[in-house]
Amino acid sequence: MAAEVRPRLTVLSGPSGVGKSTVVAHMRKVHPEVWLSVSATTRKPRPGERDGVQYFFVSDEEFDKLIANGELLEWAEFAGNRYGTPRREVHDRLAAGEPVLLEIDLQGARQVKESMPDSRLVFLAPPSWDELVRRLTGRGTESPEVIERRLEAAKVELAAESEFDTTLVNTSVEDVARELLALMAVE
Ligand code: ADP
Ligand code: 5GP
Repeated sequence: MAAEVRPRLTVLSGPSGVGKSTVVAHMRKVHPEVWLSVSATTRKPRPGERDGVQYFFVSDEEFDKLIANGELLEWAEFAGNRYGTPRREVHDRLAAGEPVLLEIDLQGARQVKESMPDSRLVFLAPPSWDELVRRLTGRGTESPEVIERRLEAAKVELAAESEFDTTLVNTSVEDVARELLALMAVE
């Protein structure tokens, strides 16, 4: 009997500002067929972000409902906002044999590993702490207070690297995008 071919769920995590969105955007430019789950969040859109593209932007009440109705595969509070992965499309894609990519925080990654032990957790690490601070500050999308909060969270995330199956260091966006794609390939 042929070995069962399982579609793979890949989770990409790493500290805020390390370059997760940049890497995923580059990978999808080269490989538009790769599907990335769109999360729901109570955070306000940044300039250029569109509802249903980067996130589904929802109110606190709407987020409460998503939780109550069991519609989220996982969710977490991160630096003052809530974020969650809608369950339905992830399951449908995996059932159809397609690889699925989630870009979520450490708490979410742990929940996914717990409920779906076959998933692969990928940690995106910065080349150095100073470079992480430079990237987060240089992005220019958050106030100094929010940057401070995210850097506090980053210390916790960096300390959890060993919980992940693989670490990729984001020195070159192109290289990391290629490595991530290779990890996502269904075996
Ligand atoms: P995250 O999604 O992890 O919070 P972003 O993708 O928004 O991070 O990246 C944060 C900042 O770092 C952005 O300004 C982005 O252009 C920059 N950046 C991302 N990857 C690299 C890299 N490999 N080298 C230099 N700058 C990068
Ligand atoms: P940002 O506000 O910078 O877009 O995202 C902040 C953090 O929330 C990042 O670490 C990002 O990976 C994470 N995040 C985004 N979507 C989700 C989600 O659906 N669930 C969880 N747990 N974290 C998420």
